[in-house]
Amino acid sequence: MLRITVWNENFHEKHLPGMKERHPEGLHGTIAAILRQEEDFVVRTATQDDPECGLTEEVLNDTDVLFWWGHVTHNDVPDSVVERVHNHVLQGMGLVVLHSGHFSKIFRKVCGTPCNLTWHDDSKERLFVVNPGHPIAQGLPPYFEIPNEECYGEPFGIPEPDELVFLGWYNTGEVFRSGCCFHRCNGRIFYFQPGHETDSSFFIPEVQQIYKNAARWCAPVKRVPELTCPFQPPLEKVD
Ligand code: ZN
Repeated sequence: MLRITVWNENFHEKHLPGMKERHPEGLHGTIAAILRQEEDFVVRTATQDDPECGLTEEVLNDTDVLFWWGHVTHNDVPDSVVERVHNHVLQGMGLVVLHSGHFSKIFRKVCGTPCNLTWHDDSKERLFVVNPGHPIAQGLPPYFEIPNEECYGEPFGIPEPDELVFLGWYNTGEVFRSGCCFHRCNGRIFYFQPGHETDSSFFIPEVQQIYKNAARWCAPVKRVPELTCPFQPPLEKVD
């Protein structure tokens, strides 16, 4: 079983007209429902409204992969929660950061860079698989289109990705590194650009396949409970 927690700031749900129609259970509910299509995924949700943002030690210890959707209230996530999530990522918990989560505290912390980009509304996006052998690209065609997405453009202020899986092109002329993998100690991180709150990207089969593939790729290979620097006696005696 793969244990997944889907986290959402849950702000637009309370303030943006039309959200209830598009996402009756919130963005977290929509994303969780997609992941629950996989029989071996056990999925829970957490939001910024929960005590400790719903990300207690107990929850994170019981999470293999954390999905993150945030946009306008990044700075309201307490640093103590970000530190806790960061520790779990370094120990091996997977992290999937969606769309405007590029500016979340946790993504900027794992990247160590500003994660800035350029943007504007309403473009058609064509997503190219640039790494067809990558596990996150399995089951996908060479490219697919999203009729309407918020355009994110380069330069994207991230460190050089360890693996680039998707490159986005927009019919308004921009390109963007839309699917990027990073390794941080034992943890695997995947950033995926589509997923604007008023667009329908969530309901495109290829996007849903990518969520599922990303969960499997980010799953811990080895999770260590504590990162330490133990004394190691010399292995050989040297004269
Ligand atoms: Zn957006």
